[in-house]
Amino acid sequence: MRAMRMILVGPPGAGKGTQAARLVERFNILHISSGDMLRAAVKEGTALGREADGFMKAGKLVPDEVVIGMILERIAKPDCAQGFMLDGFPRTAPQAEALDAAMVAAKVELDAVVLIEVPDPLLEERAIGRRTDPVTGTIYHLTYNPPPADIVSRLVHRADDTKEAVAIRTAKYHSETAPIIPFYLGKGILKRVDGVGDPDIITERIAAVLAG
Ligand code: AMP
Repeated sequence: MRAMRMILVGPPGAGKGTQAARLVERFNILHISSGDMLRAAVKEGTALGREADGFMKAGKLVPDEVVIGMILERIAKPDCAQGFMLDGFPRTAPQAEALDAAMVAAKVELDAVVLIEVPDPLLEERAIGRRTDPVTGTIYHLTYNPPPADIVSRLVHRADDTKEAVAIRTAKYHSETAPIIPFYLGKGILKRVDGVGDPDIITERIAAVLAG
């Protein structure tokens, strides 16, 4: 199969991580999550992690130069020649431009930008109920996708999944990330998907727009 290069975009709590985990299995491509990479850097206490930590806890965006360097370095690695799914990057116009320039230089193209749309009033509840299993990486929701009882005690609630941080992250999405959408619309590769409903159905919606 030809290498597929795609991006998942959506507000915080839209289900990007949940859908990415399903799509990588189906399409057999690499999942590159800027948020996961940054959280790993924070946990390891690297220079990059120490720089990103405060921004992330507050729900703010990590500065462009930090994230751009991290992602461009990652997608230049040989395993990405097989295609990749970017989740959480680009999140600003300079990030979208830097990605575009790097792809032009590498003579490769983006196939699709999937925009998962969820209305703002649903985002807070989704994020506050979200829990991640540090052992498997599986994302649950205490109400909508409840975890098995025997693993509940080990689940992690993200430091930025609080009411206050989600409000800031949602505002940042509208002011910084939404403006990149016309850029991809203009390229004719933007695919809008309704992100409200059962996660399995949303996976099917995404697969359908990617096939279409
Ligand atoms: P996520 O897991 O995608 O929700 O990202 C969690 C946090 O990591 C965000 O709220 C930001 O603080 C930071 N982050 C992740 N990706 C980016 C990015 N592309 N640009 C700036 N900050 C980012």
